[in-house]
Amino acid sequence: MEQTPPFPSPEELKSKLAEFMKTNFGDKVSFATYTQPETADASGDEKPPKRDTDEFEFKFLPRDIKAHLDRFVIKQEEAKKVLSIAVCDHYNHVNYVRRLEQQDAARAEQTEYAKQNVILVGPTGVGKTYLIKHIAELIKVPFVKADATKFSETGYVGGDVEDLVRELVDKADGDVNVAQFGIIYIDEIDKIAGASNLAGRDVSGRGVQTTLLKLMEETDVPLRSAQDLQAQLQAAFEFQKRGGKAKRETISTRHILFVVSGAFERLKQQVSRRIAQGQIGFAADPVAVMDNEVFQHVTTQDFIEYGFEPEFIGRLPVRVVCEELTAGDLYQIMRYSEGSILRQYERAFAAYGIEISFEDEALQLIADAAAKERTGARGLLTVFERLFRDFKYHLAGSGLTQLRVSSELVREPQQVLGRLMAEGHRQETAALENSAREFAERFAREHGLEIVFDESALHRLVERANAEHMTMPELCAHLFKDYQFGLSLVQKNTGERRFVLDATAVDAPDKFLSELVVRSHYPLAPTAKS
Ligand code: ADP
Repeated sequence: MEQTPPFPSPEELKSKLAEFMKTNFGDKVSFATYTQPETADASGDEKPPKRDTDEFEFKFLPRDIKAHLDRFVIKQEEAKKVLSIAVCDHYNHVNYVRRLEQQDAARAEQTEYAKQNVILVGPTGVGKTYLIKHIAELIKVPFVKADATKFSETGYVGGDVEDLVRELVDKADGDVNVAQFGIIYIDEIDKIAGASNLAGRDVSGRGVQTTLLKLMEETDVPLRSAQDLQAQLQAAFEFQKRGGKAKRETISTRHILFVVSGAFERLKQQVSRRIAQGQIGFAADPVAVMDNEVFQHVTTQDFIEYGFEPEFIGRLPVRVVCEELTAGDLYQIMRYSEGSILRQYERAFAAYGIEISFEDEALQLIADAAAKERTGARGLLTVFERLFRDFKYHLAGSGLTQLRVSSELVREPQQVLGRLMAEGHRQETAALENSAREFAERFAREHGLEIVFDESALHRLVERANAEHMTMPELCAHLFKDYQFGLSLVQKNTGERRFVLDATAVDAPDKFLSELVVRSHYPLAPTAKS
């Protein structure tokens, strides 16, 4: 028998909640009302999901995924390979379980499988997120990323670890069927490892590991957070509308792929030291960035020593390194990655009508400077921003149409900028002067009267056009609007057809014209100049 639960009416609930907010938080917090989204039709039933579960069919080979990654990610060959395999294994298994579910739900439920969750070791900015993002894009599953440092045992502000799963649903436009195959990426996982060299492990780090472990194993996450009053209100409202019939309220984490990553700064020393004890000549590198060579020797025990719970690390069977990027790699990224920052700068300058191009030597210098930042490919962003900030500011609207980035520009940016600005200024001045001459030519053609701007007139015209933000034709038409009439009077009196205009004509055109007219009547009358 269906029962309507003893929920207050939405209006009652709303006013109760508003009152509660006001008493607890004062006027600082206001209470927004939930409005029914447009997806709901008149009967209160939601539209069917855009994509049905059955449409999720994974059809890639590891080499397809690797080939896709190669277009964007430079180096990291091992990581690309290992991730491609892990992703294929994971989603092939998903395919298998889903087929089995249709034949024999009980067996599908019981199928044992060690999920191919991944731990990615590597310093910042070397492509860890970039890899996962491109995999998710290729196979069309939602992807969310968070930093482990945000979590604490009791949850972080605004929610808890489970919010990540709910975020997947958001990314899938509310489609739970799609969201359940998403990828959750958690960075800075090394920061929640309890330090093993301290007495007793960091308690909150362990708590976060336990919470994450639960998600990585298999759990049902409520679609609405208990902290989210608005979502709760919506749930109550819908429940009531449906006459007490519950709809799907949870999402299972069974098929979600988890990727965790971190720099693990102490790991290389830790492992090198151990290897060195058994092997002569294997010296610990003072720069402790993990590489593939040493990583081969990393064991589960090393991660446990680093401060991870054995159960937690045990749920991350796929382990791979993203190596540090050298200046040479950064050069390759600029030249060959489809996501190269060069494209971004080409677009940015093109928006100002400037075509930017890069000389090879300049790219080498930029790569060297970026490598010194020690932030991986992020160093490129820093160097580009620093190098081109003033160029964008001063060259936009300067009249310059080409910007060739040479090694000199990278070495002496301010000098080159100064030169380009002067050049841009010259080009702009020349264009304005030409436009003034064209005005004079048109005037001659249309009225049979020749006006000639001398040097001083051209100079003032350019100054005024710039200062008054007018185009040259507009300025001339405005200044010399009475000249056709005035000059034809002069022509009648004196027969003159050619008139030379100087700066005084530009500064006070009416006065200049009336003097010409007066003099044509009274050739001996004194002029302002005499
Ligand atoms: P992290 O390793 O810290 O997750 P990201 O993957 O976020 O770093 O890299 C930051 C940006 O740098 C990426 O968005 C990408 O543009 C660029 N990048 C990083 N590594 C590579 C790489 N190996 N090949 C091409 N681009 C890269």
